[in-house]
Amino acid sequence: MAKVLIIGAGGVSQVVTFKCAQYPEVFSDIMLASRTKSKCDKIAAIIEEKLGRKIQTAQIDAEDVPALVQLIKSFQPKLVINVALPYQDLCIMDACLEAGVNYMDTANYEPKDVAKFEYSWQWAYQDKFKEKGLTAILGCGFDPGQSQIYTAYLAKHYFDEIHYLDIVDCNGGDHGKAFATNFNPEINIREITQKGRYWKDGKWVETEPQEIMFPLTYPNIGVRKSYLMYHEELESLVKNFPTIKMARFFMTFGDEYLTHLRVIQNIGMASIKPILYKGVEIVPLQFLKETLPAPETLGENYTGETSIGCRVKGIKDGKEKTAYIWNNCSHQAAYNETGAQGVSYTTGVPAMTGAMMFLTGKWQGAGVFNVEEFDPDPFMEVIGKHGLPFEVKENIDLELTY
Ligand code: NDP
Repeated sequence: MAKVLIIGAGGVSQVVTFKCAQYPEVFSDIMLASRTKSKCDKIAAIIEEKLGRKIQTAQIDAEDVPALVQLIKSFQPKLVINVALPYQDLCIMDACLEAGVNYMDTANYEPKDVAKFEYSWQWAYQDKFKEKGLTAILGCGFDPGQSQIYTAYLAKHYFDEIHYLDIVDCNGGDHGKAFATNFNPEINIREITQKGRYWKDGKWVETEPQEIMFPLTYPNIGVRKSYLMYHEELESLVKNFPTIKMARFFMTFGDEYLTHLRVIQNIGMASIKPILYKGVEIVPLQFLKETLPAPETLGENYTGETSIGCRVKGIKDGKEKTAYIWNNCSHQAAYNETGAQGVSYTTGVPAMTGAMMFLTGKWQGAGVFNVEEFDPDPFMEVIGKHGLPFEVKENIDLELTY
């Protein structure tokens, strides 16, 4: 039985908080704190109505470290689950260190003024967490998160050596809007407009955005154009599985989505450089975010499924083999259960499950960890029951060239 403090009250938070509330035997007390308290209260009301459980709420600016330390010390959680934005990661890690509590997030730190994705800033906290005997678990959503646990699971049970790893992320759903992003629009557009990057023979290879595309077949969805992009978990996976010769990440985008994105970029609305508007400094992408649908509002009429998995080629008992592990998640089922759409759901369920692994002693250790460093088995044993069942197929055509 442990207390958890959840920070951030968007789409992902709604699912993490809801799922934690389903397991009072593990999460005995829950506090939800965010910049806008009314959003915490709205989530608390949904949980009270659907599960009959009360949770506490609070207002906090997570970038105000002294205020956050005070909040943590007054509530005394065992774990802080950060589902605010990547910008707050380091502030929340600092506050956890000072208050002496453990930390978890679902996305790596990004500085506000440059869209740069790397673990260096958070890995630099290794000694500080170790010295205090505390645990920091990085990137425990789906991707990053479950994608790494899938890799560790295949490496443990299906292969002697993994040589080729492709993480494939398809949203085959339809929210009925002309243009919307499934998680925070600012973070999403920063990520997708970056150059692509993949790991090949010991070094990173850079590509233009959406330069490499494979038409891939997703279970129960069909063929979708899948574009190579850089994703943060590649960095830790190639470090923790050094036999990997090539590691790539693919995400599906519809033509309509890419056309909107191109227009947004061409007219300067994807820019993160501040401009003056009527004497006030604004960041075009932050302004655009305010005009786009919020991720937590997309659920109601969302149809279709997501399908995220890993396609792996390697060797077992001296022979070459392939394996594909994946989960399909229905947007409607996610909404019916938690009031949130499938992308928030596929992020929130692994976050709750990772928190449960830590709080029940199945994942342990002092320092900073990426999730593939823990034993995947206890997580994989319960993830289906928690809402994200998986399937594995061996020795099939992975539809990729190397
Ligand atoms: P939302 O924009 O819906 O929610 C973000 C929340 O964080 C908002 O409630 C926001 O408050 C709050 N927040 C922002 N700044 C602060 C601050 N300074 N102090 C306190 N709270 C703050 O985003 P999502 O729920 O879609 O995403 C949440 C996180 O999950 C992101 O980091 C995202 O990158 C990550 N993610 C990870 C995935 C994975 O698979 N690993 C997939 C999808 C998302 P306010 O309401 O006031 O704006």
